[in-house]
Amino acid sequence: MTGQMSPQYLLKFVEELKKRAVPAHDIESFERHCASLSNGAVTPCPFCYVVNKRGVLAQRTEVAGLVVLQCENCDISVVVRAP
Ligand SMILES: [Zn+2]
Repeated sequence: MTGQMSPQYLLKFVEELKKRAVPAHDIESFERHCASLSNGAVTPCPFCYVVNKRGVLAQRTEVAGLVVLQCENCDISVVVRAP
């Protein structure tokens, strides 16, 4: 994946974090972290980030405009719309 993280990705990550009852200040911190990423940076795992771990989301499959991202550290997968 190249370029900055797609806004759809971030929206989806925030939604998933809220579903898991992650505190708002941790979600905001993740959003700030994403905004600070440079072009071409890896996609950080939101679930690892909020527990101070460093997970990287890898793209697994892309079907019908949906992308499955899976964390190489915590194994959680997220389905997002392709950018
Ligand atoms: Zn993770």
